[in-house]
Amino acid sequence: MFETTSLGDVAGATECRMHDGFHAYEDIAFIEAIDPVTRQPVPDGEVGELVVTTLVDRMAPLIRYATGDLTTIDRSPCGCGRNHARFKVLGRASDQILIEGRSILPREIMSLVEVHTETRGALFQIVRTDREMATLRLRVGYDVSRLTSPEASLRLRLHDQIFAALGVPLAIELLDEQELLKLGPPHKIPRVTKA
Ligand SMILES: [Zn+2]
Repeated sequence: MFETTSLGDVAGATECRMHDGFHAYEDIAFIEAIDPVTRQPVPDGEVGELVVTTLVDRMAPLIRYATGDLTTIDRSPCGCGRNHARFKVLGRASDQILIEGRSILPREIMSLVEVHTETRGALFQIVRTDREMATLRLRVGYDVSRLTSPEASLRLRLHDQIFAALGVPLAIELLDEQELLKLGPPHKIPRVTKA
């Protein structure tokens, strides 16, 4: 399976057989990663917002178009032989939360939640009251019919495992996943919510 994505409305971008990021077509677009707050460029390999400038399009000459996507850019040689830089799409800049300086995105939480049988639907929300917060607040839906132990022990299991992975203060609220499904089908549930 190969993923494709948009290179900031300038072009498309696809993975190569190495499956290690999307190759940007750098002969038609100039790519940068910038700090979403300071708007200053970040070094390759660090998380920043993807900014794209078209080099050939005279009809829509986008200059430093800020995509709103968080990315890391890798300019090291790729195993496929292409010389064009690769970038990874980590999530939307507007979904990012900083807990004790550590960046957290819904994508990371998903893989941590879906490993438990009760929560394998990966139905969760991050409660984001501010971009920078002291505690990561998660609302996690579980399948009531799969619950094999008291709810408190599921919460503890989730807490210990997510804390071990992320290392940030964490508060988990559990609820029947049917409550979250009232917000929409799994791919439409807002992963980041204000309350
Ligand atoms: Zn490649």
